[in-house]
Amino acid sequence: MDLGIKGKRGLVTASSKGLGLGCARALAAAGVDLVMNARGAEALEAAADEIRREFGVAVTTVACDITTEAGRTEVLEAAGAVDILVTNAGGPPPGMWTDWDRDDFIGALDANMLTPILLMKACLPGMMERGWGRVVNITSQSVKSPIGVLGLSNSARAGLTGFVAGTARQVAPQGVTINNLLPGIHDTDRAVSLDQGVSQAQGISFEDARAQRIKTIPAGRYGSAAEFGETCAFLCSQHAGFIVGQNLLADGGAFNSTL
Ligand code: NAP
Repeated sequence: MDLGIKGKRGLVTASSKGLGLGCARALAAAGVDLVMNARGAEALEAAADEIRREFGVAVTTVACDITTEAGRTEVLEAAGAVDILVTNAGGPPPGMWTDWDRDDFIGALDANMLTPILLMKACLPGMMERGWGRVVNITSQSVKSPIGVLGLSNSARAGLTGFVAGTARQVAPQGVTINNLLPGIHDTDRAVSLDQGVSQAQGISFEDARAQRIKTIPAGRYGSAAEFGETCAFLCSQHAGFIVGQNLLADGGAFNSTL
């Protein structure tokens, strides 16, 4: 399907690996010129080179921490006028509610709530002025169904979800859509580290921990970054202009509900 976004300019933060990279690749396949970001320069350059070679689009890279003000300033300066914004950052570490103090919450809020909000604040005015824009925030299934050990993520992402619910309706009249894409378990480095956490906490092997988590997914497998990216690219397409303020789960059916 032609997504109708060839020649648009997209910013995908935290995109050298995993879900962010899946989104960057799918947008590039649709002809979108990209600004990509991650902290580690080596993996970022390697990912960008592969995308340039494979899809022939222009890719600018900015190696920095997107959760800092300096990092956001650098990325936004390089990005300029973007038509498509995909926000992403690393997820907070697992733990127990008894472990976390104020600084832990502030760190999670900075990374997974305030960073996407500030990126949207910077990019939305230009999109509205030009009468077209797409924003997709990578959040988590934990927004719909809390994961106890990810209390920092549950808290921060709930705040972002509330902001998007109201703001998406305020910018829709100018042709700009904001939606959240909620990953269930996907086969990325993050999933490996969470599987390792389960393995250590329960004293079982890594393979048994993974098999145990797969049993919770009706699709019987982890999702792939590629299929997650294609879903994101569709939300960024011309065809998705009437999808506003939604929270779309990509979780293989793990969240059990009728609606
Ligand atoms: P991942 O495989 O660990 O990849 C994370 C990517 O983000 C890497 O490119 C990493 O590069 C970059 N990154 C991390 N922190 C950054 C920062 N502060 N500034 C700039 N770049 C940063 O993670 P993932 O599985 O794709 O997860 C992406 C998001 O989805 C996370 O917030 C995660 O919590 C959430 N999520 C994932 C799953 C899953 O099953 N995978 C499920 C639910 C929610 P550098 O390390 O070089 O910066």
